[in-house]
Amino acid sequence: MNQAQGKKMETIETISEMQTLNWQWRQAGRRVALVPTMGALHEGHLSLIRRAREKADTVVVSVFVNPSQFGENEDFSTYPRDFRRDWQLCREQEVDAVFHPAPEEMYPPDFSTWVDERELATPLCGQFRPGHFRGVATIVVKLCNAVLPDVTVFGQKDAQQALVLKRVLRDLNMPTTLEIAPIVREHDGLAMSSRNQYLTADQRWRARSINQGLELARQHFAKGERNASTLIDSVKQKVKAAGGDIQYAEVRDRNYLQPLKQIDRPALLAVAAFFGQCRLIDNCFLNHHPCSDTLNPPA
Ligand code: AMP
Repeated sequence: MNQAQGKKMETIETISEMQTLNWQWRQAGRRVALVPTMGALHEGHLSLIRRAREKADTVVVSVFVNPSQFGENEDFSTYPRDFRRDWQLCREQEVDAVFHPAPEEMYPPDFSTWVDERELATPLCGQFRPGHFRGVATIVVKLCNAVLPDVTVFGQKDAQQALVLKRVLRDLNMPTTLEIAPIVREHDGLAMSSRNQYLTADQRWRARSINQGLELARQHFAKGERNASTLIDSVKQKVKAAGGDIQYAEVRDRNYLQPLKQIDRPALLAVAAFFGQCRLIDNCFLNHHPCSDTLNPPA
């Protein structure tokens, strides 16, 4: 019998209940995977849940819109929230438990301890969203300490985030491995994102240009172009022609995020662009070996 046919999915709101459940699972010899999300689940999140299921027999999805990773002028208050729908989607995916703490559970009023990775969190989004990765790293460590997973699954959609977290988990001796799943896209190539809901129909149409630009850069790269600024220009031109405002488009070392002028090693082409008020990020790898198309940062 699967859960869709009626097996109970646990809904957990407190850290202590979550830890107790984990100890029960452990005693039963179960291997646990965590998929951290901010809810407003889409097919990208569901692909992470399926990946988690491949890696463990027990899957926990956390649904928590983390206030500490939003800047003062960002979209914390308007971020899409629909827990009933998220819960239902998790149930259809046969998730074992949804961890859905209230903000006060994760951040008591006198909360004062932060996880601050200082190297990989600095460039790209880090330049424009001060404090963002500090909020992300802190909540992921807290979620891991609540759920105690053997493996934690993230998406390549947030490639810098995955690299920062890989470093944090290693630096703090966290006993969980990190698994990174590929970007899931809409039929026209736009990377799925909870924030796509903010786009008007016109902006949604124009936002395809981000992936079109990345694809163009990949094609130039495949034909032998190794100059980073030429490849970056392909993206910038496509997005600008579609009326988007580029915040950054950069080529960096795929594991350590140093800037690259010539692509002489596996690279990440990362972009952030605004369509109206909506800020979207996307990326692709520029690989010498096309078959190694996964983000696999060394420990
Ligand atoms: P979020 O709910 O936006 O914080 O994302 C939760 C997790 O889902 C993160 O690890 C994201 O990288 C991942 N994710 C978001 N969008 C996608 C996507 N289109 N494809 C794959 N993973 C994604």
